Amino acid sequence: MIDHSHDAAAISWVESANGHPDFPVQNLPLGVFSRDGGERRIGVAIGDYILDLADAYEAGLLPWANASAITATTLNRLMGLPAADRLALRHGLFALLTRTENCAEVQPFLHLAQACKMHLPAMIGDYTDFYVGIHHANNVGALFRPDNPLLPNYKYVPIGYHGRASSIRPSGVPLVRPNGQRKAPDADVPVFGPSVRLDYELELGVWIGGGNALGDPIAIADAAQHIAGFCLLNDWSARDFQAWEYQPLGPFLAKNFQSTISPWVITAEALAPYRIAQPARPQGDPAPLPYLFDADDQAHGALGITLTASISTAAMRARGMMPHRLSKGPASNMYWTAAQIVTHHASNGCNLNPGDLLGTGTISAPTSDGYGSLMEQTNGGKAPVDLPSGEARTFLEDGDEILLTATAHAEGFVSIGFGECRAIVLPAR
Ligand code: MN
Repeated sequence: MIDHSHDAAAISWVESANGHPDFPVQNLPLGVFSRDGGERRIGVAIGDYILDLADAYEAGLLPWANASAITATTLNRLMGLPAADRLALRHGLFALLTRTENCAEVQPFLHLAQACKMHLPAMIGDYTDFYVGIHHANNVGALFRPDNPLLPNYKYVPIGYHGRASSIRPSGVPLVRPNGQRKAPDADVPVFGPSVRLDYELELGVWIGGGNALGDPIAIADAAQHIAGFCLLNDWSARDFQAWEYQPLGPFLAKNFQSTISPWVITAEALAPYRIAQPARPQGDPAPLPYLFDADDQAHGALGITLTASISTAAMRARGMMPHRLSKGPASNMYWTAAQIVTHHASNGCNLNPGDLLGTGTISAPTSDGYGSLMEQTNGGKAPVDLPSGEARTFLEDGDEILLTATAHAEGFVSIGFGECRAIVLPAR
C-alpha cells in the first residue's frame, strides 16, 4: 500500500537524509548495529545516521512498539510480527523523523553510520538459493551444457537448492578464497587447492517475515505477507569446483564457503511504490501451475530496481581509482516473482521461519552489459574483461573487491537504495 510515508515531498529534520541516494526518510530500512564494541542494537538508517530504536523505545518515543522485538539483538522477532505491526513501526518512525518538534528528543539517539559497525540483521536459520534469473540460467546452462542450456523443468519449477546459513556475512567482511577439488576437462583425476575460477553472483535476498507451520503451505495470494523485506546478496561461487561437483545433487562446496549480504533490510512496506508487473512470459511458454499463479502477484509482484556490480582491484585502489562497473540491469529479469518462490518453497509443507533468507539466483540482463557474474561476462573465462587500470580479469584475483548496489525507482517517487554489499578477496589459507 502506498501512503503518506512514500510522499516524494516528505523531508526529514535529519538534513543528510534529504536527497540521500540510499536512505531518505521514505526508505527507513531496519538493521542491527553496534558502537565501540558494544552490544548489538536494532536501528533504522536515516541519511548518514542510524537511529537506535531500543534507546528511542526506552525514552518513550515509540510507545506502541513491541518491547521484546524492538530491544532484541536481531530482527527475527520484528520480522515475525504481522505486517500491520511493521507498518505501524514505519509510520511511527516516519513521524519521529519528519516532525521538527521531535528533533531535540530524538537527536541523542542518532549515531553517525560511519562510526557504527553493521551486523547480520537476523539469526538466519535457513538459507535457500533459487535460480530465477532467466538470462543467467540460459547463459550458464549454455556453458555447462551447450546442447541443453535450459532443462525442461525450468519453466514449471522455481529451481533452488538449500544453501548454508552459517557462512553468510554482512558487507565488509572479507572473503577467504576457498580450497576445493577441481578437474580440468582433459585431466584424468582432480586436484585439490585454491579455486582458480572464483566468481561473484549478483542477487537479491528475500527476508522471510511470518513463517508457516510444518505441513501448512503458503497460498500464493498470501505469500507477499510472509516477506519482511529485501537485501543484496553476493553468492560467491567457485566455478571450477562447481563444474566438477554439481551433478547429480547440485551446488555444494562451490557455493557454501561464504555469501555476502547488504546489512539493511529494505522493508516490503518501503518498496510498495516500486512494485511493477511481472514481465509477460515469452510466447509459447507454459503458464505457471495454478498454485503459483495469482493475478495480483502477476500485476504487482516484480520490483522496479536497478542492480549494479563493480570491481576494485588492489592496483586500482592503490592508484586512487574509482571502482569499475561490471554490469547494470533491472531486477525484473526474473522468471518467477518473490511471492512465487516463497509459495513454492512451502508448497510441500516445508516450514519457513522469521529471518530465513531466500536468494533469487543471479539476475542477469539479456545483454552482456547486464550479466550478473564474471562467468557470463567472460564467456566461461575465454574473453577477459578489460579494466581501466590496464589489468584484465577472467575470474577474481586476491585483493579484488566486489561491490553490489541496488536502487528502487518509480515515476513520481524519490529513489531509495539498498546500501552497500561489498567484500574483498583474501588469499586461500
Ligand atoms: Mn546463486
